[in-house]
Amino acid sequence: MNVETTRIDGIPTPVSRIGLGTWAIGGWMWGGADDNASVATIRSALDQGINLIDTAPVYGFGHSEEVVGKALAGMRQHAVIATKVALEWGDGGVRRNSTPARIRQEIEDSLRRLRTDYIDLYQVHWPDTLVPFEDTAAELEKLRAEGKILAIGVSNYSPAQMDAFSATTMLAAVQPPYNLFERAIEADVLPYARDEGLVVLAYGALCRGLLSGRMNASTTFDGDDLRNADPKFRQPRFAQYLAAVDALAELARERHGKSVLALAIRWVLDQGPTIALWGARRPDQLRGIGDAYGWRLSAQDLSDIDALLARHVTDPVGPEFMAPSLR
Ligand code: NAP
Repeated sequence: MNVETTRIDGIPTPVSRIGLGTWAIGGWMWGGADDNASVATIRSALDQGINLIDTAPVYGFGHSEEVVGKALAGMRQHAVIATKVALEWGDGGVRRNSTPARIRQEIEDSLRRLRTDYIDLYQVHWPDTLVPFEDTAAELEKLRAEGKILAIGVSNYSPAQMDAFSATTMLAAVQPPYNLFERAIEADVLPYARDEGLVVLAYGALCRGLLSGRMNASTTFDGDDLRNADPKFRQPRFAQYLAAVDALAELARERHGKSVLALAIRWVLDQGPTIALWGARRPDQLRGIGDAYGWRLSAQDLSDIDALLARHVTDPVGPEFMAPSLR
């Protein structure tokens, strides 16, 4: 497989442009998880040249990081670990907290769970407007000077927030939501990243599985699965999105002999300095990963895709339902 790679400032290893997302591996908000399948998925990703593993303390309240640490035992040097910081949990809620004290506590917990002494990319999970951005940035800069992290990123930040943050430390990457159906960053974060030389880790590249092409109108989700609360998965919108997926699948098949999933990932990779975060929790879900590499969508494809999205999705909605509250 011809793996496409990119560079993230501060990280010596080339990073695969498809990263494995491990939110579902934590179980929480995904109806539970099977740890053996999760470990096998992470190892299968590494075997297929995906060296970037994205996780977060909040994914399963430590569980995702623990499973990543277990899967990477003895193979740490082959992986680029991206984790996050500055969400706290308790009393049934998740809240933003990017105070220096919180960061100090979290880094040690993450290092222990991940069974490592350094994190490649450390990302502030959500902007906390109750703490000056320079205070958060200064604490991360200290962690970098101590060798505990190699590169600093932010997630869900606006360009103005990134400007405030990067007055104190060098930002290498930003992690926003981005996929064929969720394109708000094209107005601000994506051009900002291009101008500032940031790598964009696009999360939800499959729009929580919608763009896998495996869903239909009778698909349901178990337990606390976040898709039960996601407005995209409620009728009448669900039917609009599924019709768009069918039309995308036809375009992918007829013009490129590819699956809609490969098209969805390729589309993210063709938008600029991007990495596509592909969430998977079973090895079989990674089948066909190589189909996303080594080709490009033409300008005609891109404009036809935009037209078909506008035709089918007449009542679009974004991923805002996921945002955690401030303290
Ligand atoms: P995603 O990648 O859009 O979708 C993941 C889900 O799609 C999987 O859990 C699986 O669902 C389904 N799927 C994947 N491959 C499939 C296949 N081959 N066939 C059928 N279904 C398939 O969503 P995501 O996991 O939310 O996003 C990716 C990553 O981005 C996360 O894991 C996380 O690392 C990161 N993220 C970050 C933030 C942030 O605030 N920074 C927010 C969200 C996500 P089932 O197993 O249920 O079928």
